[in-house]
Formats: sequence, structure tokens, C-alpha cells
Amino acid sequence: MIRNFIRKVLRRRPVKAQKGGGKGVVLAAHRHGIHRGRISPAAFNVCDTLQRRGFQAFVVGGAVRDLLLGVTPKDFDVATNATPEEVRAAFRRSRIIGRRFRIVHVMQGREVIEVTTFRSGQEAKTDEHGRILQDNEFGTQAEDAMRRDFTANALYYDPLAEHIVDYHHGVADIEARVLRIIGNAATRYREDPVRMLRAVRLGAKLGLEIDEAVRAPIRELAPLLGNVPGARLLEEMIKLLQCGHALACVRQLRKEGLHHGLLPLLDVILEQPAGQRFVRIALENTDERVRAGKSVAPGFLFATLLWHEVLVVREARKAHVPVAQQAFFEAMDIVLGRQGDKLAITRRIATDIKDIWALQPRFARPARNARRLIHHPRYRAGWDFLRLRAEAGEIDSALPDWWHAFAHASEEERNQLMQNLPPGAKDNEGGRRRRRRRSRRRSARSEAQLDGQGADTPVTQPGAPTPAAACEEA
Ligand code: ATP
Ligand code: MG
Repeated sequence: MIRNFIRKVLRRRPVKAQKGGGKGVVLAAHRHGIHRGRISPAAFNVCDTLQRRGFQAFVVGGAVRDLLLGVTPKDFDVATNATPEEVRAAFRRSRIIGRRFRIVHVMQGREVIEVTTFRSGQEAKTDEHGRILQDNEFGTQAEDAMRRDFTANALYYDPLAEHIVDYHHGVADIEARVLRIIGNAATRYREDPVRMLRAVRLGAKLGLEIDEAVRAPIRELAPLLGNVPGARLLEEMIKLLQCGHALACVRQLRKEGLHHGLLPLLDVILEQPAGQRFVRIALENTDERVRAGKSVAPGFLFATLLWHEVLVVREARKAHVPVAQQAFFEAMDIVLGRQGDKLAITRRIATDIKDIWALQPRFARPARNARRLIHHPRYRAGWDFLRLRAEAGEIDSALPDWWHAFAHASEEERNQLMQNLPPGAKDNEGGRRRRRRRSRRRSARSEAQLDGQGADTPVTQPGAPTPAAACEEA
């Protein structure tokens, strides 16, 4: 009840981005409850050093927000009135980075603290869509607060004095668990369309209700994401997929119509029942891993999100190219190419994705590939992917189980496993004769090209063909 009341009151009060930034409210420790012991020693040390030199220095942004919400912060950022050069001079192990926003990375042991100088409230340099191109004018703390995106992100914690400076009622919004933007939402999205993605991610990750004023303009302004450089979109997309609430985020992206600029294939994927199930299970697994403190490689994530599209495109290519394997490899390139138009997937990530995909048909032929494949640098990621496919009902789970047993077996046990290939393994089908016959034709082609190729029967149970089965044909 009280929370609803607070929300109502808050809704009536749009956050105005006043010129000069207005006045901040100082909240003492007993009011906000954050103890300085919760701040990383590195961030504390950076603030302490700067303050000793006569500068203002605060822990700012996500870390303060997360601590107020009882969430362990991912990292600690510091904001100061010292210029980047002054910060650089205060720390031997530091360097100035960035052009659009110059910031300083201060290395403290193994931790890197990002130190930003308060931004000015002056109009920043923008492109014809209103997108900020350069923002290196420095200003006061109040002006800096005005330039931040959400009220919950505009809080400044002084770890020495243990107080919070709050310019936009961020603490009250966090207590009411609502995500509100500073200023006019449409203007702020035009300045930086990535803020729309941040709204979705922070809402889902922190369980905050997204204020209607924050949501309303998104559908109309979503196409602005097309003007954002692909590398930045990729970075934001990776954050979103690795935040521990990827499934909720992807659903919300789709609901808001935001995925068109990011994962244009997502609609297609989610419209096929098999694809939808696969993506759901993949993202659920990802979220579980992240919440258990384990890492998830971006390559693996994108491989799962785009897999079903590869299978669909592969089917279409089969009409044009006679060799199934070629159709499969072409499909990989087509899908990555289409995706790459929007999201600048780096070459390294693309290589990881392709490796994971290319391993799949090879897993279907354990007798031929097992001894070599378990030493493949991407074996583990490929096997995880295989297991995911089994979980999604694409293939018989006996196949990943067999590989798992083989990888962990003694030499003697491996010999036995070779005599007991899993049901559906293509080595079981067609017998030796066919393989021998093909081997005569084989000389001209490379081993790698032929690995896992050539059989016509899918790995799945007869009568239950799936798109994945199509891949095994490749
Ligand atoms: P997390 O670290 O959990 O992803 P965060 O809010 O800390 O979330 P960062 O990218 O680390 O995100 O940004 C630090 C702070 O910088 C934010 O809290 C916010 O105050 C400000 N900020 C980041 N991106 C933007 C943006 N696009 N527009 C305005 N302010 C931003
Ligand atoms: Mg952060």
C-alpha cells in the first residue's frame, strides 16, 4: 500500500532536467544504510587519494544503486571534479582512454576503477538525429547528475563522509522500485538511443518497474538504434545477455520492438516453436550460470540465438547447392553476415560461433571423430551446445551422454564405448561398405571438409525429423 502511494506521488512529479542541475540533497548514513565496508578497497582508495589532493570524489552510478537494492555491484565507478590529467597525475598506474568521453582507468591491484570527470550541462556536440558525438566539457556535480540517464544512477556516495548526494530523488525511486529517467525521455533517447536498451536491462536485472514515461517513447524511437555504431550495440547486447536475466531482457526487448535493431533474426527464431524452445532453454541455462558466478562466452550465446536460423537458411540453400555440407557452411556465413549488418560481431566472436556450429555434425559421427574431437579447443563449448540441443528435444540425449562418457573414460573404456555407439550415431547407419565406397572418392577433398558429412539419415529418431536433423545431414 505504502509502496503504491509512493509510486503515485512519484508519478506526478516528472524529473525536470533544470539548467545548472538544481540542488542535491545530502543523505546521511542512517538514512541510506550503506556502510563504507561495502565499497571495494580500490574504489575507496581512489576517492581517498583524490580527496586528499583537494578534489571531490564519489562512488557513483550502478554501484550505489546496486548497494541500495542489496545487490553486489559488478564494478565501482568514481566521479570527480579533477580533470582527466589531474587524475592521471594522482595515480602512477593509470591511463586516459576514450575520445567521445575521456575517462581515466586507475589500476589498483587487479581491479580497474573507471574515473570520470563531472560532465558539463552545456549542449554536447550531436549528430543530425540528436545523438551525442562528443562530451568532453567538464562541469559541476549537479550538472553531471543531470547528464546521467536514470534517477537511480545519479547518486554520489562519499565513502569517507559516508553520505549520498541525491539530485533527482533517486533514493526514493529505488525504495519505490521504479526506474525513472532524468529529463524528457524522448530527448534523452535521441541523445543516446542505447539508453532504451539500458532501461530494459536495468528494469529486468533489478526487478524495477519501468516508469510509463520511460517506456512510452521506445516503440517509436526504436529505429534510432540503427544510428548507433555496431561495436557499441554489441557491447550493450553482451551486457544484456550476461546480466543474469537474459531471458527476461530478450522478452522485454521483443515486447518493446527493440530487437529489430539488434537481433533482427530473433523474430524469425521465436516464431518457430522449436527455435523458441531452444532459445528459451539456452537463455535459462545462461541465467543460471551467471547467477552461480560462472562465465558465459559471448560466442556461445550468439551461437545459440542464431542456430535455428542457420538450419532454416541451410534448408533453403539445399535447393541451390548440391552438397549438403556446403549448404550448411554457406548458411553459417549468410546468417552471420545478416546479423553483422546490425551488430558488429567481432571476428573473434564470429570464429567461436562458427567453431561451435561446425562441431555439431561431427558429434553425430563418434566412431570417426571421437579421439580427435575431444582434444579440439572448442570441444567443451561444442559439447555444451550439443547437450542444449538434447535438452531442447532436438536430438537424442544419448549422443551428448556418450561423448561425456568417452571424454572422461580410460583407454580401455573408450574401446568399449566405440563398440557401443549411441543410438542415432551416423556411424551406426549404412555400415562400413558405404563408407569404404565413399573413401575412394575422398582423396580430392580434405579431411576437415568431410568430417561428419555424407550420411543421408538424420541423427534424430526416425519419423521425428527436426531442423537440427537437417544439420546432421550436412
Ligand atoms: P551496470 O554496471 O550494472 O551495467 P551501470 O549503471 O553501472 O550498470 P555503467 O555502464 O557502468 O552502467 O555506467 C555507469 C554510470 O554511468 C551509470 O550508472 C550512469 O550514471 C552513467 N551512464 C552510463 N551510460 C549512460 C548513458 N548512456 N547515458 C547517461 N548516463 C549513462
Ligand atoms: Mg557500472
